[in-house]
Amino acid sequence: MGAFKTQDIAKTEPLSPITLQDLQNEALHLFCWCNRCGHNAELAIDPFITKLGLHFPVPEIGRHMKCSQCQANDIATRPAWPRHGGQLARHS
Ligand SMILES: [Zn+2]
Repeated sequence: MGAFKTQDIAKTEPLSPITLQDLQNEALHLFCWCNRCGHNAELAIDPFITKLGLHFPVPEIGRHMKCSQCQANDIATRPAWPRHGGQLARHS
């Protein structure tokens, strides 16, 4: 009965949301979008890691943010995936 190992399950389990640690591993920024006015920005994740911790789920971060343009508390957050076909020169 050794077909399943806990590790295998954890790997294929899609339930856990993407966390700040995942962004850090992929060297991605955080993309923030205001649902009210459409203001958006790509932010470095370091301050969020300091404040919220590595294992904080990325979709939840928006609840702790406020739009700098219209002051709305209606922010969506997701990984800032590299643009399709874009040239990537992010590495220092
Ligand atoms: Zn806004």
